[in-house]
Amino acid sequence: MLPKELLDILCCPKCHGDLLYEPKLEKLTCKSCRKIYPIKNDIPIMLVDDNEQSGSKNERTTQQ
Ligand SMILES: [Zn+2]
Repeated sequence: MLPKELLDILCCPKCHGDLLYEPKLEKLTCKSCRKIYPIKNDIPIMLVDDNEQSGSKNERTTQQ
């Protein structure tokens, strides 16, 4: 379980929204952008994957 004090100061690094803590699933879900952050050994992994914003991954952007 994460301490409430920690949950109070945590926010989504991507949009700074509130996080929903789900202890049974060991994850934090952002209430605003729905990004999911896993919790490993009681440490929230607050990483933002920039690839999500570009839509399609591994696809070369050929312009012109
Ligand atoms: Zn968010």
